[in-house]
Amino acid sequence: MDPENEPHGPWPAERLRNVALIAHVDHGKTTLVDAILRQTGAFRENQAPGERVLDSNELERERGITILAKNTAVFYRGHKINLVDTPGHADFGGEVERILGMVEGALLLVDAVEGVMPQTRFVVEKALRAHLGLILVVNKVDRPGAEPARAVDQVLDLLIALGAGDEVLEIPVLYASGRLGVAFADWPPRPRQGAGGGGRGELPEGDLRPLLDAILESVPPPAGDPEAPLQILVTTLDRDEYLGRLAIGRIANGRIADGQSVAVLRGDDGVPPRIGRVQPLFTFGSLRRLRCPLAEAGEIVALAGLEGVTVGETVTDPLEPRPLPPLRVDEPTMTMVFMVNTSPFAGREGSFLTSRHLAERLEREMERNVGLLVEPGDQPDRWRVSGRGELHLSVLIETMRREGYEFAVSRPEVIWRERDGRREEPLELLVADVPDEAAGAVLEALGARRGELRQMAPAGEGRSRLEFLVPSRGLLGFDSQFAALTRGYGVAYHTFYGYGPDRGPIPLRSRGSLVAWERGVTTAYALANAEQRGTLFVGPGTEVYEGQIVGENAREGDLDINVCKSKHLTNMRSSTADVAVRLTPPRQLSLEEALEFIREDELVEVTPRAIRLRKAVLDREERARLRAGRVSRIEAGRRG
Ligand code: GDP
Repeated sequence: MDPENEPHGPWPAERLRNVALIAHVDHGKTTLVDAILRQTGAFRENQAPGERVLDSNELERERGITILAKNTAVFYRGHKINLVDTPGHADFGGEVERILGMVEGALLLVDAVEGVMPQTRFVVEKALRAHLGLILVVNKVDRPGAEPARAVDQVLDLLIALGAGDEVLEIPVLYASGRLGVAFADWPPRPRQGAGGGGRGELPEGDLRPLLDAILESVPPPAGDPEAPLQILVTTLDRDEYLGRLAIGRIANGRIADGQSVAVLRGDDGVPPRIGRVQPLFTFGSLRRLRCPLAEAGEIVALAGLEGVTVGETVTDPLEPRPLPPLRVDEPTMTMVFMVNTSPFAGREGSFLTSRHLAERLEREMERNVGLLVEPGDQPDRWRVSGRGELHLSVLIETMRREGYEFAVSRPEVIWRERDGRREEPLELLVADVPDEAAGAVLEALGARRGELRQMAPAGEGRSRLEFLVPSRGLLGFDSQFAALTRGYGVAYHTFYGYGPDRGPIPLRSRGSLVAWERGVTTAYALANAEQRGTLFVGPGTEVYEGQIVGENAREGDLDINVCKSKHLTNMRSSTADVAVRLTPPRQLSLEEALEFIREDELVEVTPRAIRLRKAVLDREERARLRAGRVSRIEAGRRG
């Protein structure tokens, strides 16, 4: 393929295409973009083709989710195509919506084996609402069991169900394998004239040109008048180590030059504009941001130098400031406390653990993680961190842990609000696709979590599709329960639905915790006794501290238990080995499970090497005094 690299622009709108990638997780966005970049020559100059360019974050790769929007661009047939990735998880739904406002078209990727999945439905709905030109890419056609025709039918059914008009029947359809770097306009593919035979299994020779051609032909160029006063709606944020905050958005009208003065304001708050200077100005290239002297209406730009700029503000002409309608950023619905690690093991496993380290890191996160709110806590060394759902927060915790941070967090709580004197709570719309035989168990589990079944329909091939409205607090820890109930064959996605009246109490775990009596190293002998009392989280030979939670009590209330005791030294020979064999393997809690498990008086200690559960108050006697105090207060209350 012959790349035409004219990266620095300015690119007139008619030679620009702005396209979002939308798909269910794992349907192959990253692999496809990588192949496009490769074929358009992005790797030509001393760049080894890396595996998967778009998801740069290791954690994203591992979990198969793209968390922050990524921009890249390819240069093809004298055009620049800006490709904007969208997050694959519903906790980031607000971000998807904003990104779709910055493009004119969307590539909808659907796996040729899996077909339409719940997340496909969610993103297609948003794309239709944004009136985007859709291109359907039936992907992974090389997979055994691929049924491209079925995938197309499912997408058409979905579009009709979502109320799209007849024009949807006209949407361009391509059949692709991102992995093999081929796209075809027909299925089964017709060998191209003069091309040799297969060589790639059943598929004829090819490349991704048909897909890029379809983008040029069917996605309209961006609208906008380069001669009008400047207007850019800030859509996402990024952060550069040296330049600080970067504001990213599409130029709606006008043009902007590197070093230019601009006004920044919001459309709805009546606050006078702030004046700033854009320095430097970037556009996007295939593998990195490109410094750019001038950009015009339609181009997607990143602006450095504008301190304090936030999503939803307009960057505009200082002489003729004209704000665009502000964007909505989802309000946080879940909150938790981050605090300095005070466990006896603090400082052993992490590199960053002081109050200053944490404060700086959280501050930095707010710079680019739109929708995340960090506020001082009710005590020094504590911060209240609020975000959009459990995943939004747990991804941050996991990222920090991998960067070498050590800290403790409290149980996540949803954010209630008051409306017309009524208490309201956040609700999620949950769609689950499950094997029929698991449907009953899922119904029961969600019922206990105060979910309301809204719809239930056969999904074909022995599967059912269930739709629920569930309070967000009821979904804490649900993912792992769901995976267990469906033996990993279920798929569930949830999206924030809105606030609604209090759904009533959800019974918390009724059992207490097994709490380590003293600091030491666990022994098989002591654990064999302890496991009579409940389910253990630690195996033999583990260092624990007083107040650490080592298991779940089989009964109500906590039980302080000695897990470090060794058997009296009389018959050493028979002890350890024998007992060790008989121990049940400990239950390993994931971060999400740990967050769900803990109660108000408990914390999760997070370090690069471990996730430990602990009582907030470690000292056994102090805990006993507090408990006694509570009991006597309750009794005093009863008597009074
Ligand atoms: P994303 O989550 O949408 O970005 O998906 P990825 O690009 O990360 O792909 C998810 C998985 O599908 C990975 O294991 C890929 O290797 C695999 N995959 C991606 N594209 C193809 C394809 O065209 N054919 C096959 N057989 N597998 C693919």
